[in-house]
Amino acid sequence: MDSAARTAERTRIVLVGTQHPGNIGAAARAMKTMGLSRLVLVAPQKFPHADAEAMAAGAGDLLAQAQRFDDLAAAVADCRLVLGCTARDRRVALEQLSPRQAAARIAGAGAGSEVALVFGRERTGLENDELQLCHAAVHIPANPDYGSLNLAAAVQVLAYEVRLALLAALPDPAPARDQPPASHAELEGFFAQLADTLDAIDFHKGRTPETAMHKLRRLFLRADLDAREVRLLRGVLADAQRMARLAAGKRQ
Ligand code: SAH
Repeated sequence: MDSAARTAERTRIVLVGTQHPGNIGAAARAMKTMGLSRLVLVAPQKFPHADAEAMAAGAGDLLAQAQRFDDLAAAVADCRLVLGCTARDRRVALEQLSPRQAAARIAGAGAGSEVALVFGRERTGLENDELQLCHAAVHIPANPDYGSLNLAAAVQVLAYEVRLALLAALPDPAPARDQPPASHAELEGFFAQLADTLDAIDFHKGRTPETAMHKLRRLFLRADLDAREVRLLRGVLADAQRMARLAAGKRQ
């Protein structure tokens, strides 16, 4: 298992006092799509429930494995980092983090540190004494006139940020190139042949050749060509030049 998967494993999503079981299912689905699997329920009002199963779709396994506690303190007792998500902006006496900052803290938490992201009730959110158990508050900077997200939507936003942070910590998946980039001289040889070819096929039709060449140079330089690719393109140009000569011969 890589370190990103291990961090995902020690990150639990804690839902406190959830009222609608459908939201528990939707939260499980949101988590599973982002590679999180540890769902913890604190005193859910209705669970298990058919609505939870229905909204979980293929994430029923998370519901089956969900742990249950009677209060938040017990649910996070073994955690080194506890972050409480709140729709209330700056009205808590806690450090406030954005979802991105929260995800960075989680990704940076030392190996073996259990981490909890805590979400409140649909109607009333987290109570003050529950927020007091958290090390920091997380606020999604939503529309100030309508800033309270659906519970599962809030879980999705945080789970996505955690995923991005963990993916960023992985080595770059881009395959190493098997050829070094083309040299300056190789590229200039190609550009000179490209300019000759555009003349030969009468591409410019009276317009100044420099304009098109500037754009084409930019395009091909962006492509970061290697020597083999330059040879392939020059082969195409050579054929185009040959066809242009044949056509010119026929016209005479
Ligand atoms: N009226 C409640 C809203 C609860 S929404 C309140 O004032 O708190 C249910 C849960 O979703 C919240 O407790 C919180 O954990 C999460 N949530 C909703 N909107 C959020 C936001 N903008 N930022 C962070 N968490 C949010």
